[in-house]
Amino acid sequence: MTIFLPEPHLLDSPRGREWPHYPAFGAGAPAGPPPRAANVVIVGAGLAGLAIASALWHLDVRDVVLLDRDGRPARRFFDRVDMLDQRVLRSPYGHHPGVEGYRDCELMDFARLHWGLLTPVERREIRMAQAGHRSVVPIDVFEAYCRHVSTIHHVTANTWRSTVRAVRPETETLTVYTDTGAVSTRYVVLCVGEERRSAPTMWWPDDRPPPKVSYWDEPVPAGIESLVVVGAGLTAAHLLANAVNAGQRVEWVLRQPEERYQCSDVNASFFRAEGRARFDGVAWSDRLALMGRERRATVMFEFQPLLRAAEASGQLTVHRGRPVTSVGASTVSLSDGRQVRGDHVVLALGTTMASGEHLLPAKLVGARDGWADLDESTLAYRGEPRVFAVGATAGMVLGPAARNIDGHRVATARVSTTIATRLAAGASALPDFERSDALV
Ligand SMILES: Cc1cc2nc3c(=O)[nH]c(=O)nc-3n(C[C@H](O)[C@H](O)[C@H](O)COP(=O)(O)OP(=O)(O)OC[C@H]3O[C@@H](n4cnc5c(N)ncnc54)[C@H](O)[C@@H]3O)c2cc1C
Repeated sequence: MTIFLPEPHLLDSPRGREWPHYPAFGAGAPAGPPPRAANVVIVGAGLAGLAIASALWHLDVRDVVLLDRDGRPARRFFDRVDMLDQRVLRSPYGHHPGVEGYRDCELMDFARLHWGLLTPVERREIRMAQAGHRSVVPIDVFEAYCRHVSTIHHVTANTWRSTVRAVRPETETLTVYTDTGAVSTRYVVLCVGEERRSAPTMWWPDDRPPPKVSYWDEPVPAGIESLVVVGAGLTAAHLLANAVNAGQRVEWVLRQPEERYQCSDVNASFFRAEGRARFDGVAWSDRLALMGRERRATVMFEFQPLLRAAEASGQLTVHRGRPVTSVGASTVSLSDGRQVRGDHVVLALGTTMASGEHLLPAKLVGARDGWADLDESTLAYRGEPRVFAVGATAGMVLGPAARNIDGHRVATARVSTTIATRLAAGASALPDFERSDALV
């Protein structure tokens, strides 16, 4: 049997190229506070919020306000990948935050339009995508494309820096309360993404990590000689690779018996309709089991040669199947009693999904096993049909891909058409799904 290992150089790609700027209209962020009323408020202007706002624009829903803590579309995503020095997406060219069904300019079209700016390796990846194979997308291309999508659909121009504190239903409208005031609206789409997962507090005596311990989305201090990384996913792999390339001694602590290498984040079948069909009409308990199986941490195949070579040379030590029992300043204690040391410890424990409970009254969220109770066809909360959820929150409807770019595309098609149809029908239109049965 031939085992194909993608080459590590696919992980490299230049960052910070000069991409041409697209039409100046609506390119700048708005001045002043957000408007006091809008037809639709999107909470969170990440990749999910960007996709929803762009789709609504095509459906002629233009009175849209995006509220984001960072104030710029997709900022959090790019800050996170740059922090890790991640140069390529895990998603292939087929995944894009543009709008399903409106072929204005897709990610691959955009890359091909800028052929002259691409490296030979990047060009070859586009040919792979055109031939229907798995492809690797440069972060630099993806960011320029997101800026383009954001500009042409007036998303940047409609995004205000604001932290949303609560969404409260009134009789006719909803009120979105923020740190800068309140916005009255007819529909709210929650696109709040995922926060980093905190370590169990029993890992340390006080409520917060000791000095010399940080999380994956914080900078690793410069000038250290050794690093301990806890976690089994792609963020851990980037931290390890950066440390190996910088000549540091590295300790990798894994709870699982071994690391898992995989091209995409979740099994690629979940990006297609037949994968999602494994969720449709399936009992809640089966979905929970499937999510538990599929949401395991994996590392892109391209890391394998580097990490294996570092382990063989003794620069990297991998502690497989060793759960952490406690973390001190520069030490990690393992379940077998051993202690791992380094100048710095980074916890790459992944992310957690938000059900919406921090913004909506709990009874409207109807959370079950931590997941929001969403209508299957529209992704609206059954307890409040004027509020929708896109992104990881929709996982129990859309399956493991819900948290990825491709899942946003599927969610966007459902949510944007529902909102546009209801707005066109007038405020009195009653959503059909209010009568639909909950999952058993
Ligand atoms: C390092 C890394 C690499 C990844 N690589 C890939 C990849 O290659 N392919 C892929 O498909 N996915 C990837 N992902 C997953 C990726 O995070 C999602 O695809 C995407 O970012 C999710 O988009 P989102 O809009 O749901 O969330 P985010 O991008 O997190 O956006 C949510 C936004 O909402 C804002 N927000 C949250 N709460 C509030 C509030 N109360 N008020 C105002 N604003 C708020 C946040 O500040 C943020 O800007 C990666 C994730 C990480 C961490």
